[in-house]
Amino acid sequence: PQQLLFYCRAGFEQDLSAELTDKSAALGWAGYPLAISDSGYVRFVVMDDAPANLLHRQLPLEGLIFARQSLVALDPLEDLSREDRLTPIIDQVVESGWSFESVWQETPDTNDAKTLAGLTRALERPLISQLKKRGALRRKAGGRRLHAFWTAGDCVQLAMSFPGNRSEHPGGILRLRSPRDAPSRSTLKLEEAWHTFIPKEEWGERLNETMQAADLGAAPGGWTYQLVKQGMHVYAIDNGPMDSSLMRTGQVDHHKEDAFSWKPVQRLDWLVCDIVDKPARVTALMAHWLTRHWCREAIFNLKLPMKKRWPELEGCLRQLDTALTQSQLRAEIRCRHLYHDRDEVTAYVRLLD
Ligand code: SAM
Repeated sequence: PQQLLFYCRAGFEQDLSAELTDKSAALGWAGYPLAISDSGYVRFVVMDDAPANLLHRQLPLEGLIFARQSLVALDPLEDLSREDRLTPIIDQVVESGWSFESVWQETPDTNDAKTLAGLTRALERPLISQLKKRGALRRKAGGRRLHAFWTAGDCVQLAMSFPGNRSEHPGGILRLRSPRDAPSRSTLKLEEAWHTFIPKEEWGERLNETMQAADLGAAPGGWTYQLVKQGMHVYAIDNGPMDSSLMRTGQVDHHKEDAFSWKPVQRLDWLVCDIVDKPARVTALMAHWLTRHWCREAIFNLKLPMKKRWPELEGCLRQLDTALTQSQLRAEIRCRHLYHDRDEVTAYVRLLD
């Protein structure tokens, strides 16, 4: 297979393409993206003789910003007959020589693709039973999963994923339910960020009631709500009003000040920031906090209303990395376009020393 398949939010195909082009070139690969605007996915064609599996491993999903899922793909199957969609699918799987432990049928995250739900439901059982019959679906297949990615009723691309380098959520989407008492829906952005950046088994140690946090641009309090739920004391910085039931918890100090000049009186554990401002300005503020050790971990959103989001973002991440390096700080820096993010991405920094 000489193609990789990535899922993304519809409308971000150009950004993902630019990211993949830059990152694969930096690794010395020759290849090019194939993207259709608003389709919700990008194919990346590898032109080297080296197997695409190798590029897939060299570009771990957790290091990609705009990709929700990363797969090694076979050639797309097109013009499938209504009478028999399954035979070409099963034949291609068998011919590939790969076997799998599970199979997921998926579609792009677009309104158009929602109409394919009936089709995939109808195909599910025959697909599984035929794959089993041909030995392509079995126990002990290295955790590999087969993905049948339907882009139309007669078009499917078969692809595979490997444990440790994939999203474990269908469509690469972590769906979270909005808590009924949260002051805003954007509360889910911080919750998803924690799920994404902090392993579940470390939550107790890294998010707990001994901790203090600052929430810059906090109003009405969706992010503060999450910090309070973890038992933290929160300094909420915003000129706007904070949710009154959140204030009644006694865990929140609301300061009606400018977040770009407010300083904590002592070192805190967490910094979060959801201010709508220029990405470079927010990044500089985060670097200012981190290089002074005012916090150990930070999660912040960078708003990207511009057309060329990838170069803008790349510049910001480089700016942050440079600031930390100049202060001789080792840090884990990650950045992802989360499901609950729209024209923005979520960045995460953790100081390691
Ligand atoms: N995360 C919040 C939540 O979940 O409810 C929503 C934050 S909202 C997107 C951005 C907030 O940043 C606004 O309430 C705005 O007043 C605040 N803001 C913008 N510039 C600011 C600044 N310089 N200092 C403090 N707050 C600022």
